[in-house]
Amino acid sequence: MKSAIRLLGITFFVAIIGFSMIACDHDQVTDTSPPPKVRNYEEQISFIFRLSNKFTLNEMGTVNYSEDSYKMYRITYNESAENNRRYLVICAIHGHEEAPVYAIKDFILNLDSQENMFENVTVDFIYILNPYGFEHHLRYNGDGHDLNRDFYKNFKTREIQILINSVKDIQYTGMFDFHEHRSSNGFFLEYYQKSNKQLALQILRMMRENNFELDNEYIDVILKSNNGEIYVTPYAKWAYENILKQASTGVYFDKIAKEVFIFETPHKLDIESRKKMVNILLTFLFTHTP
Ligand SMILES: [Zn+2]
Repeated sequence: MKSAIRLLGITFFVAIIGFSMIACDHDQVTDTSPPPKVRNYEEQISFIFRLSNKFTLNEMGTVNYSEDSYKMYRITYNESAENNRRYLVICAIHGHEEAPVYAIKDFILNLDSQENMFENVTVDFIYILNPYGFEHHLRYNGDGHDLNRDFYKNFKTREIQILINSVKDIQYTGMFDFHEHRSSNGFFLEYYQKSNKQLALQILRMMRENNFELDNEYIDVILKSNNGEIYVTPYAKWAYENILKQASTGVYFDKIAKEVFIFETPHKLDIESRKKMVNILLTFLFTHTP
């Protein structure tokens, strides 16, 4: 009887988790012809080649699709410092989640023009992890894969292979992955360790103080958004990998780094508000006390 209940629980849970583990929603692709390009990746990343020596550029690799070729970069702030807290920042793993892309560019340019360095922090920015999706305004990469399901064992997609190859020997303190949600009313975040609850609450308090609404609508019984807070339980992580055979950035980096957060800005807000949210989160990364 116990095992029957457990099986029922798992089945129920998988049904839920399959839709919701990474909350930002899906746009189903029904037409197989590639959608037109709405943005230009090269143009968007051109600023990274003009940064000062506060930053180091690493060419991580190239992703090729029939008529498109994208060089991918890791942009590191304060590389040479030793014994620093070191963070990984990811954006546009889903190519159509654009506000973080624009906000992170502004943030990097601000960091570059400021006189003082943040001495205690080193940050690797993976600026647009899904270049094809970014150009074509798609969640998926050029082969139709959701890159944020590809962190399970052998990485299948070129983008994630390139990322992992570039960061696998780095000891990270934390990872911040920026997403946008198309149906939530307010901001929400996901974290993976109970020890990060205080940091999560601190972030949510900052959002409230800036008059941003926190999401309470996003409900999936087990992973429930509560005033913008979603704690991904050990069981959720286990089921995701062992039953669905998938993993997201959060599930993967949770095993490596201490402070792992997924942020979801509500797409229904105007772009400037969403950019401001991302700016608050990045400032927090550089200034908080762990
Ligand atoms: Zn997303």
